[in-house]
Order: sequence, then C-alpha cells, then structure tokens
Amino acid sequence: MLVLHPHSQCDVCLDNYTTSREPYSIPCGHAFCWGCLQSLKRPNCPLCRNPFHDYEMRKVHVDKATLP
Ligand SMILES: [Zn+2]
Ligand SMILES: [Zn+2]
Repeated sequence: MLVLHPHSQCDVCLDNYTTSREPYSIPCGHAFCWGCLQSLKRPNCPLCRNPFHDYEMRKVHVDKATLP
C-alpha cells in the first residue's frame, strides 16, 4: 500500500492532502489530488508529462501515524 507523508501536498493546487483531498498516484510515480487529476485537459502527468489512464490511478493513503 502506498503511503504519503501527511505534510505532502498536491503539486498542482499546492494544498495539503487530507481525508477529503486524497492523493492518487499514477504510473510515473507522481501523485496529485483527485480534483486536479480530473481537471487535466489531457491525461498527462502535470510534472513529467507521462500519459496515464483513469484506471491506472491508485488511491494513496495519507499516513496519519507519522504526525508528531
Ligand atoms: Zn491538487
Ligand atoms: Zn509524473
């Protein structure tokens, strides 16, 4: 299971991931929030431009256990 540090943020909207803004990873290894992935004009990674498909999006769990 993929786990992100709770202080990581979406590189598109720069908001921290929360339980209502959950990150999704794509095959290139980058992760963005659902809303940003859905609003892309083309299904390409906003960072590295690799193409991906909707069915390849994987929900990433934010690891709250590492919060101080
Ligand atoms: Zn976002
Ligand atoms: Zn990427």
